[in-house]
Amino acid sequence: MALVTTTEMFKRAYDGGYAVGAFNVNNMEIVQGITEAAGELNSPVILQVSKGARSYANHTYLVKLVEAAVKENPDIPMALHLDHGDSFEVCKSCIDGGFTSVMIDCSSMPFEDNVRITKQVVEYAHDHGVVVEAELGTLAGVEDEVSVEAGSESYTHPDEVEEFVTRTGCDSLAIAIGTSHGAYKFKASQCTRNEEGILVPPPLRFDVLEECIKRIPGFPIVLHGSSSVPQEFVKIVNQYGGNMPDAIGIPEAELRHAAELAVCKINIDSDIRLAMTATIRKYMAEHPDHFDPRQYLKPARQAVKDMVAHKIQNVLGSAGKA
Ligand SMILES: [Zn+2]
Repeated sequence: MALVTTTEMFKRAYDGGYAVGAFNVNNMEIVQGITEAAGELNSPVILQVSKGARSYANHTYLVKLVEAAVKENPDIPMALHLDHGDSFEVCKSCIDGGFTSVMIDCSSMPFEDNVRITKQVVEYAHDHGVVVEAELGTLAGVEDEVSVEAGSESYTHPDEVEEFVTRTGCDSLAIAIGTSHGAYKFKASQCTRNEEGILVPPPLRFDVLEECIKRIPGFPIVLHGSSSVPQEFVKIVNQYGGNMPDAIGIPEAELRHAAELAVCKINIDSDIRLAMTATIRKYMAEHPDHFDPRQYLKPARQAVKDMVAHKIQNVLGSAGKA
C-alpha cells in the first residue's frame, strides 16, 4: 500500500468509535518503532512531521524514511502529515514533496485571516489530492516553535466551527478543549495534587467538544497535545540524573473517551520523547563503558514501539482496524 490520505481512515474511525494515532517522527528509530507497532497490531497510523523535524532531519530524509516504512509494512494504511504548518508556502512545499496531509495552523490569527489562509491551502491541497487539517482555538504549551503560556490558551468557540469548516472546506478540525503541548502542560496553580504529591490536571472540557460535535456532525475532530506523560517514565528520568519536576499529561481515560466520540486523530509526541529519554538515561547509567550508539538506540527504539503499542491498544482503540 502506498501512502494514503486520512479521508478513509477518519470515516472508519468516526463510525467505529476509535481514533488514529498521529505520532511525530524525527529520525529512523522513531519511524521504525511507531510503524513496527502499528504493523504488528494491524492499525492505521499517521506519521507527522513538524517544522522542527524538517529543520532537524531534512525533508528528504524524513520522506524517504517514511517510504521505507511503507515498504516494510505494506498491509497498513499510513499517512504522512505536516504538523503545524504556519504558512501557505510551508504547506505547499510538503504537498509538492510527497505528503498526503497537511495542517495549516493560523489559530493564533484573527478569524477572518485564519479562514482566508486555510482556504488558500485547501484549494491547492485538494487540487493535488492532499487533505487539510485546520485549527480553531489556542492550546497552551510548547511544541517546537509553537509556544503559548499556560493560562493564556483559549477554548474553541463552538459557534464558529460550522462557519469555519463550511467556508474553508478543510477536511478535519483541531479544537482546543484543554489539552496542551509538551511535558509541562499545566501550572501547579491550575491543578490539585494527589496523595503522592503528583499534579492532577483540570479535566478536559467535554462540554465544548459535545457542542462542537452538534454543530458539525460527522466531521472529524483532532486533538493536539495529547500525551499522558506516564509517571513511571518521569520517575526513571529523574532517578537517572534527569530533572523533570511536575511533568504531567492528559489522563488516558479522558483521551479514550474522546476517541469514542468524534475525535478521529490524537496527536502524541511527548510520550515518545519521554520513553526514549528515560530508556537511554537508564541504559547509560547501567552501562558506563558502552559507547556504540546502537547499544542504547536499540532499547530506545523498543521503548517507542512499546509506547505506541500501548496507545493503540489502550487509548486509541485502533488495533485490528487497518
Ligand atoms: Zn500540536
